[in-house]
Amino acid sequence: MPNAPTVVKGMRDLLPPETRWFAEVEAAAREVFALYGYEEIRTPMLERTELFARTVGEETDIVGKEMYSFTDRDQASLTLRPEATASVARAYVEHRLWEKPGWTRLYYIGPMFRRERPQQGRYRQFSQIGAELLGGDAPQMDAEMLIMLARLLDRLQLTGWTLYLNSLGCADDRRRYDAALGEALRPLAPRMCADCRRRALTHPLRVLDCKRPEDQELIAQLPTPLDFLDDGCRGHFETVRRLLDAAGIAYQLQPRLVRGLDYYTRTAFEFVHGALGAQNALLGGGRYDLLAERLGAPKGAGAGIGFALGEDRLVSAWQAGRAAEAVPAAAIYLAPLGESALGPALALAENLRRQGLGVMAGDARWSAKKHLSTAARQAARWAVLIGENEINSRQAAVKALATGEQSAVGWDQLAEFFSASREQILSS
Ligand code: AMP
Repeated sequence: MPNAPTVVKGMRDLLPPETRWFAEVEAAAREVFALYGYEEIRTPMLERTELFARTVGEETDIVGKEMYSFTDRDQASLTLRPEATASVARAYVEHRLWEKPGWTRLYYIGPMFRRERPQQGRYRQFSQIGAELLGGDAPQMDAEMLIMLARLLDRLQLTGWTLYLNSLGCADDRRRYDAALGEALRPLAPRMCADCRRRALTHPLRVLDCKRPEDQELIAQLPTPLDFLDDGCRGHFETVRRLLDAAGIAYQLQPRLVRGLDYYTRTAFEFVHGALGAQNALLGGGRYDLLAERLGAPKGAGAGIGFALGEDRLVSAWQAGRAAEAVPAAAIYLAPLGESALGPALALAENLRRQGLGVMAGDARWSAKKHLSTAARQAARWAVLIGENEINSRQAAVKALATGEQSAVGWDQLAEFFSASREQILSS
């Protein structure tokens, strides 16, 4: 087809069976979040552009060059959300969620949009699974979130990850640190890449995020946020670390870990995974004590901590560690052998489905040989052949596709037969 429309650059169609992996990861996340008392929040995919400019930060890559923004018909500037923490904080303020007793625990799952340079593990539409714990600044909250993440990765049987931990300090520490960093960068920046030279003037903290190998030696000479923590922030970070030690969660201190969003204060973290190559960050997050306050929450009620996990990356790390196994869309393949068999065959299939058994109906080819070959290629466990003889005798011909073994099973016994065979297969 000439000039057929194709998918937008940097975006992708997720097809089966990959969609199944996403659904499994999401189900596991919902299950684990519920264990800690988190409930789901769904915010719109469109927000006012101003929300991200004010929270994520004008000088960040996300706001500076990666947002999909447009002017609506009423002249409002709207943006497809590049991340969801700002939206959750907005909703927290708009619905005065701090008025409910205790901390607020929310999670979300959904697509985010950033116009980044596409590469393996980096897409312009990607899915994040995230959670936010709002309403206080106790180090216990930081520990709970990190413990919950370790529980989630464990539930997914994902091994080989490392937790990187840092503290960026509070607003006062950051001011002192930024000044010292700017000073330290003055003689070094001219020897760094163009991005670093620009950031040294506009947003010195972001220099630490440079991945260019040639700049690393110079970056290693720069002071770190940890050197500038005041007593309160140092104590806070020590407690977080002590609680992680007590919970048996291993981490690596990464004094130069910074995040690409401006609202973070104090604890910052990332979980990385070896199977992911250059884009090795599986998830990232941190504390944001001033975010919701800036959007209108009363002093103290707006502090919180959150994370966002890249679902696309998690699925690829997860798949890399699991044996490829052909899982059928439905275990039973229904093979009607003629037009006249169709009515009874479909009724039979419906009866099995009513009892919770998955049945995929074969198409109108009527040939047992063709049906069996399709059933095998679909990785079905059984084919149920229904022709004139089977209808007259009310006995279905059931073929176990792995062994080729065929048996005649009475229509009323079929559900029982499959349930028993399933147990046999699972226990063998
Ligand atoms: P961030 O919101 O930038 O803190 O990112 C949190 C996580 O989202 C990262 O650790 C990645 O796993 C994932 N992520 C961020 N940007 C992308 C992208 N463009 N494509 C795929 N995953 C992404």
